Amino acid sequence: MPSMDDTTNGSDLQDTAKTAGARTIGASLNRATLAVTGGRTHGEPGTPVATPLVQSVNFLTAPGSHNELLYTRHGNTPNALVLQDRLALLEGSEAALVLSSGMGATACTMMALLRPGDHLLASSWVYGGTRQLFEQELVTQGIEVTFVDPTETRGWRRSVRHNTRVLFLESPVNPTTRVLDLRPVSALARELGLALVVDSTFASPINFRALEHGADVVIHSATKYLNGHQDVLAGVVCGSASVIEEVRRKMIVWGQAADPFALWMLERGIKTLDVRVRRQNESAMAIARWATEWPAFARVHYPGLASHPDHDIASETLDGFGGMMAVELALGADATQGMLEQLQLFLHAPSLGGVESLVSEPRYTSHEHLSSAERAAIGIPDGFLRLSIGLEDPADLIADLAQATV
Ligand SMILES: *Cc1c(COP(=O)(O)O)cnc(C)c1O
Repeated sequence: MPSMDDTTNGSDLQDTAKTAGARTIGASLNRATLAVTGGRTHGEPGTPVATPLVQSVNFLTAPGSHNELLYTRHGNTPNALVLQDRLALLEGSEAALVLSSGMGATACTMMALLRPGDHLLASSWVYGGTRQLFEQELVTQGIEVTFVDPTETRGWRRSVRHNTRVLFLESPVNPTTRVLDLRPVSALARELGLALVVDSTFASPINFRALEHGADVVIHSATKYLNGHQDVLAGVVCGSASVIEEVRRKMIVWGQAADPFALWMLERGIKTLDVRVRRQNESAMAIARWATEWPAFARVHYPGLASHPDHDIASETLDGFGGMMAVELALGADATQGMLEQLQLFLHAPSLGGVESLVSEPRYTSHEHLSSAERAAIGIPDGFLRLSIGLEDPADLIADLAQATV
């Protein structure tokens, strides 16, 4: 790990934010319980059951006090603290920070871990915005960036330079649903003293906890599964207290903190994370099984299927195969328009991880910048449709796909 500047006040602040005599819930509870209660404090009779929304940017201070300022941009106001405790418990990290978006989370993490002259080695299978951030923005900060095929363990090792500080990967991968084996990459990071950062948005902490597999820092776009209702933009970073404090410093000066209302909404969304994700896992499995038998689909991509290239590693390392899948139409790209117009329940929209089922075409969204041949080379041929399975009854979703493809 790159050494972090010595920091104070993060935990002191959280201690003072909890009223004297209050009990904080945490420790060794199961994730379904933590999603509802993690970080909650029991106060006096009359304390609201739901965390109150404290929609204030600013807070009174004692004259002459040296305590850190409570200020929304600092990520230390009441709605931030309870949520950050909960996320750290869910992910199994020492600390967590909520930012204004998933991109804000990735950007501030990179600014915290890398200095001019450092080298970032990243998987080439990353979210389009992440790729742009690395390729177009970090390089202007004097940071060297190279990409590797993440499935080639020797490729990671060969691409490490004397100034490499951070390894970055995303798993499961958007939109191909490939699942990466973290073990060889985290072993390399350990051996060479590098930080391994994992974007685990597709899995959520219910299906995968990258820290248990050797990652140092985990990032989520909370806009997706964590909030789950397509109505909040937010990002999360989980890791050691010292790394999180360094990310928080970047968040403060680059202005990437989340608004109290977004934090409050996100806390509400996370309460149902476990039931949502389990249901989405089950529904996606049922739909994927049906889709493999349905003649309109030439291929189905879902880590829960034995035919998936990473089925074994997914079975070993994930607690659930997730709610994301993809299909390739037998009639190819010409047939997508007709199908998309016929679908009644699946909404044609980007993004993912919410209660509504969505369908999108990567050739017009995340992978628009590539040519048809370049997309095909990374496993996204034209006629490839990504499905984000929501909470509708899977039988209804299957009927919708069937009627749209006859
Ligand atoms: C959506 C997404 C992001 C970016 O998150 P925002 O909240 O939209 O900024 C990053 N990584 C992955 C894997 C995503 O799906």
